Amino acid sequence: MPDPYAWLQNSLLTIHRADWYRSVQTIHGRPGATVFLAGQEVINFASNDYLGLAGDERLIAAAVAATQEFGTGSTGSRLLSGHRELHHQLEKAIASLKQTEDAVVFSSGYLANMGAIAALVGKRDLIFSDQYNHSSLKNGAILSGATIIEYSHCDVTELKTQLLQQRQNYRRCLILTDSVFSMDGDLCPLPELLDLAEEFSCMLLVDEAHATGVMGKTGAGCVEHFSCTGRQLIQIGTLSKALGSLGGYVAGSHTLIDYLRNRAPSWIYTTGLSPADTAAALAAINIVIQEPQHRMQLWHNVNYLKELLQRLPSRKLLPSASPILCFQLSSASEALEVGKQLKQAGIFAPAIRPPTVPTSRIRISLMATHQTAHIEKLVSVLAGIK
Ligand SMILES: *Cc1c(COP(=O)(O)O)cnc(C)c1O
Repeated sequence: MPDPYAWLQNSLLTIHRADWYRSVQTIHGRPGATVFLAGQEVINFASNDYLGLAGDERLIAAAVAATQEFGTGSTGSRLLSGHRELHHQLEKAIASLKQTEDAVVFSSGYLANMGAIAALVGKRDLIFSDQYNHSSLKNGAILSGATIIEYSHCDVTELKTQLLQQRQNYRRCLILTDSVFSMDGDLCPLPELLDLAEEFSCMLLVDEAHATGVMGKTGAGCVEHFSCTGRQLIQIGTLSKALGSLGGYVAGSHTLIDYLRNRAPSWIYTTGLSPADTAAALAAINIVIQEPQHRMQLWHNVNYLKELLQRLPSRKLLPSASPILCFQLSSASEALEVGKQLKQAGIFAPAIRPPTVPTSRIRISLMATHQTAHIEKLVSVLAGIK
C-alpha cells in the first residue's frame, strides 16, 4: 500500500522550488526597536509593536500583578466559568476608545474575524471582500457559507456595479475590508464604502488590526481618521499589534455585541483571555489614550523615512498612508536575497512572498521607539544594495 503521508514531502519540495519555503527565526530578549536574532543585534523593522508597548514596564507590571491575583489561566469559556471583572474593564476601555456602545474580546484577532463573520451571514447571504483582505477575513467568509464575491483592491466603482447586479438576489449582505492593508500599508476608501453600504442596505465590517493605536487623532483607528466615528459599522481589531498584548475584539452597537456573545462560536467555545493578556491590553489602551506622544513620534518617524527615501528613486515604494512601507521586487528569489543582505548589514526587514501577497516585496514597519540613527542606517544600507 502507498504511504498516505508521502505527499507531504513532495508538497514541501514544491514549496522549496518556488522559493516560497518559510521557517521561524528565534528572537532573544525583550521586543524593541533593536532585537537579537540568532546572536546578532539587528534594527527591527519587522514588528507590529508600533508604539513599543510590548516591552513597556507598565504592561509587564500589569500582567505580573494580574497573574499574581488571578492566576495564569482563565480556566473556562467566558459563558461558563472564565469571565472576570478584568475582561469587562477591557471591553469597556475598547468601547470608550472606539466610541462605540460596547465591545467583546476574543482570544485573537483571527478568531474575532472568523467568529463574527460566521455569526453575521450564512448560506442565503452575500459577502463582498477586497481581494487583498487578511487571511482571517477570507477564511471567516468561507466558514460562513455565504456566497463570496472578491472585488479588485479598493475599487468602489467595481463594487457598486456588482452591488447593482447582485444585491437583490440575497438576504443579508456584508462588505469586508482591512482598514490599513497589512501587507501593503495603504488604506481602504472607508467613507465611500460606508455610503455604498447605506445605499444598498449592507453591513460593513472593517478590520482595524494595523490602525488601532496608530491612526486617528486619539488612536481609535481609521474610522476616526476618516471622521466616520459614530456611523453604523462593525469594527474588528487585535490587542496584539500597537497594544502589545494578545487577543482580538469586535466593537459596535449593544445589539451587535449581545448577538455575538450568543452566536459567535469562536467566542462561545473557547477559553477566556488570560488575566495577564487582559491586564496588559488594558494598560496599553490607557497609555494610548493618555500619552499621544508615542503616536506622534511614530508618525514623525514615518515622515522622516519617507523624506529620506525620496533620495533613493531606484527603490519602488508601494503607495502607503501608514507605518507599513513596502518595496516591490521582481521575484521571490530577489526579495529573499535583498532580505538576506539587509540582515547581514544589521537590518531586520522581512521578504514577503506569494502566496501571502501577489508580488514579492520587502516590508518595513516603523515603531515609535526607532531612533533617527536607526532610520538613517536603514536608508544607507538600502542605498548600498543593488
Ligand atoms: C494580524 C491581523 C489579524 C489577526 O490578529 P491576531 O490577533 O494576531 O490573530 C487580523 N486581521 C489583520 C488585518 C491583521 O493584520
